[in-house]
Amino acid sequence: MGLFDYVLLSFKCPNCGEIEKHHEWQTKAFDRVLSTYKPGQVAETDDALIKDGKVWIHTVCKNCNKPIQARVVIKNYKLTSKIDYASHIKKRRKLSLKLAKTN
Ligand SMILES: [Zn+2]
Repeated sequence: MGLFDYVLLSFKCPNCGEIEKHHEWQTKAFDRVLSTYKPGQVAETDDALIKDGKVWIHTVCKNCNKPIQARVVIKNYKLTSKIDYASHIKKRRKLSLKLAKTN
């Protein structure tokens, strides 16, 4: 059974401001076989080839210990080093989960 893969990117904590130039993010969007993806690499899994889009990545800030969720941008089949720290999307997800439970 797979677990996750790593994506090597920079990290800037949206919570405490901690910065790391080379950080091992985790992602479950690819084949989950503990391989390491880097910017410039083709975003391909056993089931999909991604031309343009965004992939969820996760980590925990080693300074404030908060779980951080963000998305890395894929452009023209390749991973970029662009990170989208869209925390509002996570909040909306939580809200819809809550709604689903009460219904
Ligand atoms: Zn932090």
